[in-house]
Amino acid sequence: MSNFKMGTKCVQGGYTPKNGEPRQIPIYQSTTFKYNTSEDMGKLFDLEASGYFYSRLQNPTCDLVAAKICEMEGGSAAMLTSSGQSASFFAVFNIAGCGDHIVASSTIYGGTYNLFAVTMKRMGIDFTFISPNCSDEEFEAAFKPNTKAVFGETIANPALNVLDIERFANMAHKHGVPLIVDNTFATPINCRPFEWGADIVTHSTTKYMDGHASAVGGCIVDSGRFDWTRYPDKYPGLCTPDESYHGVTYTERFGIEGAYITKATVQLMRDFGCCQQAQTAYVLNLGLESLHLRIKKHCENALKVAEFLKSDDRITWVKYPHLEGDENYELAKKYMPNGGCGVVSFGVKGGRSAAEAFMKELKVASIATHVADARTCCLHPASATHRQMNDEELAAAGITPDLIRFSCGIEDAEDLINDIKQALSKI
Ligand SMILES: *Cc1c(COP(=O)(O)O)cnc(C)c1O
Repeated sequence: MSNFKMGTKCVQGGYTPKNGEPRQIPIYQSTTFKYNTSEDMGKLFDLEASGYFYSRLQNPTCDLVAAKICEMEGGSAAMLTSSGQSASFFAVFNIAGCGDHIVASSTIYGGTYNLFAVTMKRMGIDFTFISPNCSDEEFEAAFKPNTKAVFGETIANPALNVLDIERFANMAHKHGVPLIVDNTFATPINCRPFEWGADIVTHSTTKYMDGHASAVGGCIVDSGRFDWTRYPDKYPGLCTPDESYHGVTYTERFGIEGAYITKATVQLMRDFGCCQQAQTAYVLNLGLESLHLRIKKHCENALKVAEFLKSDDRITWVKYPHLEGDENYELAKKYMPNGGCGVVSFGVKGGRSAAEAFMKELKVASIATHVADARTCCLHPASATHRQMNDEELAAAGITPDLIRFSCGIEDAEDLINDIKQALSKI
């Protein structure tokens, strides 16, 4: 399957039924799996044999869908998680613990920012947030001897700036750490961060991958290219024996292609239990089957909406990386020549209160704490997802108080634009 083009991977990746087997992926709605002997079971617990025993750790339906996403990203191994949040948490916590440090782009999803700056900080992990446009000197200065990874978002939600993945990857590798990229907004249809040097990719599959506002989920994909064994002192969890698994050393047993995801599965998933459900994975897979078609329409609609907004003088500013003249236009074209995402942000004249009044009048677009849905939706981050932040933090996250995040669905662009026009005429 790995030689096929993206559309074929979306439809058929991860699962090739044998003679007489179901055409659609089966839903293994079972918490547990049966074995004939305790010895058979023991081998699984010792990681000497592969197989399923309890769906908190692994489930066949989830694994089929993870395998599809893995093919789409061009990775070596992948796992599903219960949400994008747990994917971000696992991706970092798998290689960092108390006393460690991470460098992260400041323009990341608000939920990820809270996770890092508040909750993981409480666990003893320190984060330095840098502007994605910072100078090389500022970037260099962010690294410490205990830095374990660099983290960024391909297209930031909701700031919509494009990560210079190659630059971030080079800088991470220069300091002997991997680059983790949250690829939720671009999806592998539009950007494959591994092709630009990223080492680990995370997703909130809740967004475009599901695409129908039906199922919360996440995914982590490993490129299998970061050589942990070059830095055994820095990554003892991967390079030295895990006492909670009878002394298995993940890099020795599973190679650099499998060590990271195996550890995250058998250790973090075992202990934290943020597993995706088989039913959810099935719903996610239905979304993936049409992802390549939907993404095209989302992007087409977003560009038309962005062009309209740019031409209307009731709009103070528009941000859409693929709109000519956008400050990230060159980066957008480099990393995503076929389009980026369906999300546009803008400000209306009159600021914060006008933004709220405008949104109330929309008929096609609904106000929802969601993006990347087939149905157009919008949100005012300063009063919703980012309301915990003060103005300074908002500014660092690339959010102004008047910012409206407008997520174009796959309806007809003309209806979206007419809806915006009628709402503008009422404020
Ligand atoms: C939504 C989102 C997340 C969090 O995902 P959930 O599935 O809501 O937990 C992480 N990163 C980005 C870019 C997101 O948009």
